[in-house]
Amino acid sequence: MTQLNDTHDPSLKSWVASANEPGCDFPIQNLPFGMFKRTNTDTPPRGCIAIGDQILVLAHVLAKGLLCDKAERAAEAALGPTLNPLMALGSDHWSDLRSQLSHLLKEGGEEDALKDTLIPMSEVVMCMPADIGDYTDFYSSINHATNVGRLLRPDNPLLPNYKHIPIAYHGRSSSIRVSGTPSKRPKGQLKAPDAELPVFTACKRLDYETELGVFVGPGNSLGETIALDDAEDHIFGFCVLNDWSARDIQAWEYVPLGPFLAKNFATTISPWIVTMEAMAPYRQEVTPRPDGDPVPLAYLTSEAHEQSGGLDINLDVAIATPKMQENGDAPFVIGSPVFKDMYWSVFQMLTHHASGGCNFQPGDFYGSGTISGTEKDQLGSLLEASVGGMQEITFPTGETRTFLEDGDEVVMRAWCDKDGAARIGFGECRSIILPADGGTA
Ligand code: MN
Repeated sequence: MTQLNDTHDPSLKSWVASANEPGCDFPIQNLPFGMFKRTNTDTPPRGCIAIGDQILVLAHVLAKGLLCDKAERAAEAALGPTLNPLMALGSDHWSDLRSQLSHLLKEGGEEDALKDTLIPMSEVVMCMPADIGDYTDFYSSINHATNVGRLLRPDNPLLPNYKHIPIAYHGRSSSIRVSGTPSKRPKGQLKAPDAELPVFTACKRLDYETELGVFVGPGNSLGETIALDDAEDHIFGFCVLNDWSARDIQAWEYVPLGPFLAKNFATTISPWIVTMEAMAPYRQEVTPRPDGDPVPLAYLTSEAHEQSGGLDINLDVAIATPKMQENGDAPFVIGSPVFKDMYWSVFQMLTHHASGGCNFQPGDFYGSGTISGTEKDQLGSLLEASVGGMQEITFPTGETRTFLEDGDEVVMRAWCDKDGAARIGFGECRSIILPADGGTA
């Protein structure tokens, strides 16, 4: 397991003043990686890290000759236009770069050499952090699986395989976009329950799914597997993921092979990748399974995993209607799920995915599945929050929703916070719904 080290010290402060503000997503203990462009330029994306409300460009740090050995090679691999080469290097390189950047940015570090190279986040556009080769979406929240199952099968919500095997479908990487990119309402085949025939029209039950995204590091060769206790060395880091879902298209198309067009029209991710090492203070034991639940098969369990396979992450998902955006109102929080109660861990998901010999490449990506808790204010999708569209959600403006309307903006956030550790955040995953071609009617 990644050990706590000097970079996690909660008393560590940066010479970048905004990084020391309470509640800041990007204190010196975080140091997430991203790809940016200057606003209104067409230059290729370049690699950077977030510190407070600024970005530090890795090319500038290299040009000053402030990095050495593995950290220098790691920074060279992160120059751009994607982080895939850095992801391929492995955790020893990632860790050395983190350690040397922490030294440069801490109070008493290289302020004189670097302060003029910082760029305010407000002057850059964040880009896709990686070239994602393959994307898989899991279904690892038992609360979500139960809530959705109950809508379909009230007496038997959870299918018999659920507690034995991490369920997933192969997603679509070509339509993943970074936060800030609008998402167009899809059209597709729908069949109303009482209709005889399907029609091709705009989705009327457009939903979000609040998830954690995972970027894979070095990966494995075809035919090889990833042991559970090695899985963390293959995880580069995490972001917030909105797995948009067209519920009415999904309901008609998903039998028997699972989601297809209902999921592949758009997926949105937050731009910063919080590293596995930054998460070390927030590793925890996996939440014990209820009495009577099966013990996972041997390849999906280990003593080390039991002790440190859980991740203590808070999320929330909010909507700003067009009227709220016009008023300048803050997005209204619909749900605040917690990650630590997931039935399957990010490590079990990766190990299971590779258990048949499926190879992972640097920059491959997987989602946790919608994260939902047991309470009404912990639900990660509108399908659950509106009980299948039967209960309206009322906003402070008096407006109501069951599913998303054109112009609605969905904003997801995630953060980690506990006594004895520095609070770290993931930033935002934000996207606005554009009308379907030809309108929504
Ligand atoms: Mn999903």
